[in-house]
Amino acid sequence: MEETMMKKCRRCGAEFITRSRIRKRCDVCQTVVSAEKQKKANERLKARRAARRMCLLKAVNLSLQSAARGAAREALRAGM
Ligand SMILES: [Zn+2]
Repeated sequence: MEETMMKKCRRCGAEFITRSRIRKRCDVCQTVVSAEKQKKANERLKARRAARRMCLLKAVNLSLQSAARGAAREALRAGM
């Protein structure tokens, strides 16, 4: 036998009926919250990707800089 219970939504305070003991929100809020979670997860992923790209860019810049410094030093040495 399935047990249903009346619960109060933690988000909007509306009462709803659920069979799940772990449910804390009504259907509407559940949908909204999971959509928000998904959105946040996507944003985190995007931010992480952007951060990695920045890191990569920085590494490339650093190696370019040191390469340029090395070339300058070589040129200096060659000139002397
Ligand atoms: Zn709700």
